[in-house]
Amino acid sequence: MIPKSHSTDPAQSPGSSPGSPSVAASAARVAVVLIPLPLPEAYDYAEPEGLDLEVGDIVHAPLGPRAVAGVVVSLRDAAGVNRPLRPLEGRLEAPRLPPGTLAFIQWAARYASDAPGAALAMALRGLGSPLPRARELVVATGAGLARPTPARTRVMEAARAPQTRADLARAAGVSSAVIQALVAAGALRVILAAPETRPPPDPNLPGAALNPSQAAGAQVLRGLVDAQAFSVALLDGVTGSGKTEVYMEAVAQALRQSPTAQVLVLLPEIALTGAVIARFTTRFGVAPHEWHSGVAGPRRRLTWEAVAKGQARIVVGARSALFLPFADLALIVVDEEHDGAYKQEDGFIYQARDLAVARAKIETCPVILASATPSLESLWNARMGRYHWLRLTDRHGAAGLPDVELVDLRLFPPGPGKWLSQPLADAMAQTLARGEQSLLFLNRRGYAPLVMCRACGERLRAPDTDSWLVEHRYSQRLICHLTGFSMPRPDRCPYCQAAESLVSVGPGVERVEEEARQVLPGARIVVFSSDTAPDAAAGQALITAMAGGEYDVMVATQSAAKGHNFPGLTLVGVVDADVGLKGGDLRAAERTFQLLTQVSGRAGRRERPGRAMIQTWAPDHPVMRALAAQDRDAFADLELAERQAAGLPPFGRLAAVILASRDPEKLEIFARAFAAAAPNAEGAEVYGPADAPLALIRGVRRKRFLVRAQREVDIQAFLSAWRARARPPAAIRLTFDVDPYSFL
Ligand code: ADP
Repeated sequence: MIPKSHSTDPAQSPGSSPGSPSVAASAARVAVVLIPLPLPEAYDYAEPEGLDLEVGDIVHAPLGPRAVAGVVVSLRDAAGVNRPLRPLEGRLEAPRLPPGTLAFIQWAARYASDAPGAALAMALRGLGSPLPRARELVVATGAGLARPTPARTRVMEAARAPQTRADLARAAGVSSAVIQALVAAGALRVILAAPETRPPPDPNLPGAALNPSQAAGAQVLRGLVDAQAFSVALLDGVTGSGKTEVYMEAVAQALRQSPTAQVLVLLPEIALTGAVIARFTTRFGVAPHEWHSGVAGPRRRLTWEAVAKGQARIVVGARSALFLPFADLALIVVDEEHDGAYKQEDGFIYQARDLAVARAKIETCPVILASATPSLESLWNARMGRYHWLRLTDRHGAAGLPDVELVDLRLFPPGPGKWLSQPLADAMAQTLARGEQSLLFLNRRGYAPLVMCRACGERLRAPDTDSWLVEHRYSQRLICHLTGFSMPRPDRCPYCQAAESLVSVGPGVERVEEEARQVLPGARIVVFSSDTAPDAAAGQALITAMAGGEYDVMVATQSAAKGHNFPGLTLVGVVDADVGLKGGDLRAAERTFQLLTQVSGRAGRRERPGRAMIQTWAPDHPVMRALAAQDRDAFADLELAERQAAGLPPFGRLAAVILASRDPEKLEIFARAFAAAAPNAEGAEVYGPADAPLALIRGVRRKRFLVRAQREVDIQAFLSAWRARARPPAAIRLTFDVDPYSFL
C-alpha cells in the first residue's frame, strides 16, 4: 500500500517539513532506511545512541503504529536536521546486506519501474522465519567413571562423538535418566551445536572426463572465471551435449578462487533441482544449498544467513535466489536460460535471466547462460559478439540426436474424439514391443480444456472471470486454472438447465492417457502434470520411476519436457504441435520451437536411437519446417528478421501497462485520462488502452497499453514520466511490465 501523504506518517521522507521543531538533538546521525514495501522512497530515522549502525544493517523501524524490518541504505550527520525524526527501535539479529545486494536491489527496481522497497522485499524473504534453535549435544569429557555399571560403560563408549541425548540413549540402550546422571557427574559434557554445519564443497574431486569440444568450452569458461571480471557466456549446446558437465568445471574454478567464493546456479523449475543437486553432490562431495518455494521456515532463514555470511558456497535455486544476499559472488549460471519460468509475472515483475546479467555486472563476475534452444535475445547478443558463444553441436558419447518427423494430420486425421494418428499409434506399439518407453507431450492439464453445452452453446466459465473451466476427470471437477475456482461437474447446463447436454471439448493429458490405454491395452501408463506431481518430491518420484523403467508410456505437460534424462525413452510424440502457435503473442513461434526441440530432445539419450513424431495440421509453417530439419539457425534467422522488421525485442523495447479495477466506470475514465497523459517521446509509441484478452479476473476488470520503443529509448524513464503525469486514484491499480512475456 502506498501512503497517500507522508505528512500523516510520523517517519518523514527526506527533505520534508522544514522548520518543524527538532527533537532529534540527541541523535548524532540520520539513518535512511528502505522499507520492504512498495513505498515511493526511503525514510529518515534517528540513530539511537550506541547503535553504531552501518550501511546494510537490518533494523526495526517504526512505521505508523507498528515496526517493520528495514535496511539502512545511507547514514549522514544529523547536524542541521531541524525536524522530528522517530528513532529506530534497534538492530535485527541478522547479517548485514552486502553492498552488491543493495546496489542490485536499486538497479532491479529501476529496471522494473517499481519501488526499491518492492525489490528489497524479495531480498528479505528469507528473514520471515526465526532461526532454528541451537541443538544441545552431549559428548564424553574424558573423565573416568566413579561408579561404572554396564549401562554407564555402554553410554561412554557410544559418546565419543557428539550427538543428541535421545540418539545417545538409543545407541546405548539406556533411559534418558542415565544420560542425565552422567552429565551431572561430569562424565558427559553438553555442547551447543549450530543447527546445521555442512563441510565446504571440494572443487578438486574429479569431474567427468570431458570430450574435446566439452574440454574446449570448459577452458574458455575457466578463463572467464579467472579473469574475475564481468562477462557473459552463452553455453549453447544440443540436448545431451553435456552442458552441465561443462559449467560444473567453471563452478569448480570459481570455488578455487577463495574459501569464501560463492556460485549461484539458477534453474527454471523446482522439479529440476533434484537431478541437478544430485550431480553437484557427486561432483563436489557435498549437497549445495537449495533455494525455492519448497524451502520453508527455519531452513529458509538458515540458508539466507549462510548465503549472507559466505558459508553457502553453492546455491541451486529458482529465480528468486537471485535476490539472496551473496557476500562474495564469483559466478552465476542460468541453466535453461530460454525458459519462460524465469519471468516473474506478479508482485515484483522481473526476468531473472536479464537480472542475472545485471547482478553479475554489479558483482564483477561472469555469468553463464546455458541452453539447447537459447532465447532470441541471447542468441542475438552472441551473434553481435557481446556474449562469448560456446557451441556444443553433438551429444556426448554414442547418443545421436533423435530423428524428427512431422505427421501431417491432414493426411492422417485421428478419428472423431481422438487425438493420436495412426502413424504415432503404430510407433508406440513398436516401441512397446521393443521394451522401450514413449513420451506423449501435450501442454494441457486435465481432461478437456473446455466444457460446452450442446443445447445452448454456452461455454462454462468461472464466476466473474473470463477464462474457461477445465475439466479434470481424476478429481471430477471443473477448475479455473487462472483463479483456482472449482466446482463438481454439473449434471445440467447451468445456463439453460438442459440435461446431459454438456460435452468435453478438446484434449488434455488425462484424455490422451485414456486414448493411449485403448491403443496399448495393458501398457503401464502414467500422467505427469502439476496435478499428478504437485510438488518437487512427487515430481522426483515420477521421474525416478520413469527413468527406472517402471512405465511404458508417460503422458506429460511441459514439466517433463525440461532437462530430464530417461535412458529407456526412444519415442516422443507431440500430440498437438500447433497449440502453442495460437494466441499470437510475440514469442509464440519461439516458444513453440524451443519447447518442441526440448521435448524431442528427451528421446534416445543412450545408445538406442530416438525418434520424435510431431503431429501438426500446418506442416508448412516455418516453425514446423525448422523442427523437421532440426535447423535452429534457420529458424532464428527467420524469426529475428521478422522481429527486426517489426521493431520488436531484441531490436526494440516493449513495456505493458496494466490498469485494473473492480469499478468499470472509474477504470474507463482513468484509462482515457492516462492515455491522454502519455509523454510525447521520440522513438516511443503507445498503443491502447484496450481490454486485456483476460479482461475480467475474479471481478477485477483489466485494460492494457503497450509501449513500443526503439532500443536507444530509456523506456523506464518514459514510464516514470508517464506515471508522474497521471497518478491513479485509489480504486485503480497500475502495473508496469517491462519486457512483457504475457500479453493477457
Ligand atoms: P545437457 O545439459 O547438455 O543436456 P548433460 O550435462 O545433462 O547435458 O549430459 C547429458 C548426459 O550425458 C548426462 O547423463 C551426463 O552425465 C552425460 N555426460 C555428458 N558429458 C559427459 C562426459 N564427458 N562423460 C561422461 N558422461 C557425460
